[in-house]
Amino acid sequence: MRKEWTDARRLVVKIGSSLLIEPERGTLKSNWLRTLAQDIAALAGEGREILVVSSGAIALGRRALGLAPGRLRLEESQASAAVGQVALAHGYEALFREEGLVTAQVLLTLGDTEERRRYLNARSTIQTLFKLGVVPIVNENDTVATSEIRYGDNDRLAARVATMMSAHLLVVLSDVDGLYTAPPGANKEAHRIDEVRAITPEIEALAGATGTDYGSGGMVTKIEAAKIATAAGTHMVITSGRRDHPLRALGEGAPATWFPARGDPIAARKRWIGGALETKGALTIDAGAVAALGRGKSLLPAGVVAIEGRFARGDAVAIRGPDGREIGRGLVAYDSQDAGRIVGRKSGEIARILGYEGRAEIIHRDDMSLNLKGS
Ligand code: GLU
Repeated sequence: MRKEWTDARRLVVKIGSSLLIEPERGTLKSNWLRTLAQDIAALAGEGREILVVSSGAIALGRRALGLAPGRLRLEESQASAAVGQVALAHGYEALFREEGLVTAQVLLTLGDTEERRRYLNARSTIQTLFKLGVVPIVNENDTVATSEIRYGDNDRLAARVATMMSAHLLVVLSDVDGLYTAPPGANKEAHRIDEVRAITPEIEALAGATGTDYGSGGMVTKIEAAKIATAAGTHMVITSGRRDHPLRALGEGAPATWFPARGDPIAARKRWIGGALETKGALTIDAGAVAALGRGKSLLPAGVVAIEGRFARGDAVAIRGPDGREIGRGLVAYDSQDAGRIVGRKSGEIARILGYEGRAEIIHRDDMSLNLKGS
């Protein structure tokens, strides 16, 4: 089996509406979903962390509301999502519970994944769910997302969530088993591409527009998703979900199109933090803290001796050693005002000083890129 699969400790699985919803009756395909829950339980049993990005709220809700077939107005899709999300979450909760899995509903908007401060919140909440052994079920918060601030398709949302969580692999379960050289069905010569090493203009042209009645994404948004994922070090695979136990089948070598990423997601994230971000301030730390960071620890307020600049929570700041030399960069967990009040203090004192329970670290090690000598 492919390394991208066997090595994936953290997986994001994207499920499109057309797999989940019975087209005739507009209800959840519970039997299929049960087989997926069994696959996920088996993966969790191997010690893997799994997050599901699921569509289906609008398709379920519009049926419950009796809205006519065809395009919905924005307000109608928002109302449908509000109604359908309840049924969707209920379906997951009930079927996953049968397999001994605890689920959590996480509704995100574009801003939650793109704006740094909110991104850190979403990331750390999902991180905590993983630690507690929960399977987060993510969807876009369609009820509040309007067209300008909306993904509109769960392919790109899933790719952003996967990169935000430094997932190793994004599995896109689709109604087709991969990317074809021409529309399958219409063309006898059409064949599936096993592996896409680089997303060239030719590959993008192949994607064409292949939407179904239920999902909003065709191959175009899947290729967009592959670009987002692979650029951040997350592998992606498109495979068919039109069979029972689709993840087990993938693990056993089912037909698919693989998009391998170069590098790993943690390294890609650190590169992004270290290179691309403009810093809004600086934290000067003591020698003990420099040594701790060198051992892979997070930066605690107790190790900070001075702060400089005006920054918001989630901004990038420089980390300076006692001699003032920049030894790295990181995304800071407190704004400059609160950071100023807790420097030099023990993490246990934070709640009393600030009046709220903040994070123990001022910069978490995952949010840090270091250029210490010898590291
Ligand atoms: N968020 C939408 C829903 O739950 C689905 C978007 C998509 O189909 O990609 O209905």
